Amino acid sequence: MTTLTCPSAPASPGAVLLGMKGAEGRIVPLRTRMEVDAEFLASASRQGPPEARMRFASPCRSEGCAQWTGTACGIIQRVLDHIDRLPDPPLLAETLPPCTIRQSCRWFSDRGRPACAACDLVVTDQVAAGS
Ligand code: SF4
Repeated sequence: MTTLTCPSAPASPGAVLLGMKGAEGRIVPLRTRMEVDAEFLASASRQGPPEARMRFASPCRSEGCAQWTGTACGIIQRVLDHIDRLPDPPLLAETLPPCTIRQSCRWFSDRGRPACAACDLVVTDQVAAGS
């Protein structure tokens, strides 16, 4: 069985850098796979928690994660439910965005294309990001 990948993981050595927050506050995906090391993270941490402006991926811990609902990842479920309830939802991409982990992504596995359409709205550390 393939281990799925969490697309909103803590910044830790060996994690894949998925993208960085752009000017509009949405995550701009990297087109090339890049694993980060301790040196990169130490440098990025000088400007505050990296998870407030970057997204990282690492193996999904499923039952070992507080976000696990018992059958799926609760994060993307909540994001999509929230968008569904908005009177004026944000514009979502109609085409699949570039992504270096899609073939193993937990959110894509759980929810398919709608997850990718909303993915760039997710900031892992929302408290530090001030939202
Ligand atoms: S939800 Fe889609 S765009 Fe986001 S990390 Fe997963 S596969 Fe990539």
